[in-house]
Amino acid sequence: MKLSVSAMLSFLFVLTLFSCGGNKPDFDGDSAFGYLVKQCDFGPRNPGSRGHKNTLNYLLTEMRTFADSVKVQKFSHFDKRTGISLDLTNIIASFKVSDANRVLLAAHWDTRPRSDQDKMPSKRNQPLLGANDGASGVAVLLELAKVFSENPPPVGVDLILFDGEDFGEEGDLDRYFLGSRHFAKNFTGQKPKWAIIIDMVGDAELELPIERYSFERNKKLVEKVWDAAERAGASQFKRRLGSYVQDDHLMLYEYAGIEAIDIIDFDYTRGGINLWHTSLDTPEMCSPASLAAVGRTLIELIYE
Ligand SMILES: [Zn+2]
Repeated sequence: MKLSVSAMLSFLFVLTLFSCGGNKPDFDGDSAFGYLVKQCDFGPRNPGSRGHKNTLNYLLTEMRTFADSVKVQKFSHFDKRTGISLDLTNIIASFKVSDANRVLLAAHWDTRPRSDQDKMPSKRNQPLLGANDGASGVAVLLELAKVFSENPPPVGVDLILFDGEDFGEEGDLDRYFLGSRHFAKNFTGQKPKWAIIIDMVGDAELELPIERYSFERNKKLVEKVWDAAERAGASQFKRRLGSYVQDDHLMLYEYAGIEAIDIIDFDYTRGGINLWHTSLDTPEMCSPASLAAVGRTLIELIYE
């Protein structure tokens, strides 16, 4: 066989691509950001609202395009405090359905019915847009679904969009985590190897310290994820302890015994002003680069 110099060079180039791990897919932060904006275009997505209903249809359509199977877990929650019955829905999008070796990634798709941390008292009863608190985690999972559909992952993956995470009033924890609690209490079958919740990962000034419950209960998984972040060049992941954050991971752990951690940036401020649970939680405060840092880390972890 005779190769010209230029053919030889391009052959070596291809070889180099493969040996450098060119087989790991990339994560498109701009595309993910498009999913964040699209969700916000539906308006507030709190249970019972028009935005909630329209977003559910949108998310189902998108996930059905990408996933091997999509399950819809509907349930209702009677809220004693308000006397209102809420129709809630978890979406479970699966890849490699028959693979017993599975991992789980989840985010909440609902948004908070009130901006109770807003500086303006008149806004505190208004539902919020939830660009970061809601849309960001879902945006990463939608983009990952696209990646998995084009590059089948080496393990079975379930992507879950939980409903009713942010419904409760401050301190009233029984009215939070409605979707993850329902899912975990009714969980049957083989447990995933691990589960990761992503929440509030869109902040343009993203910093991800280690959430403390995650560290105390699942240190090994935390180490694996933060190592993957380092390999992915995601410097937003910080190797220091953050605060204790009550989130969907606790439900998976408590009611289903699933090893779960939370990736969350709970410090959501701009110039000393709090954005968390306020009317200021808008797409302008988020960035494609932040979503990409988290997406690339999860790809690094899953395709390892
Ligand atoms: Zn929240």
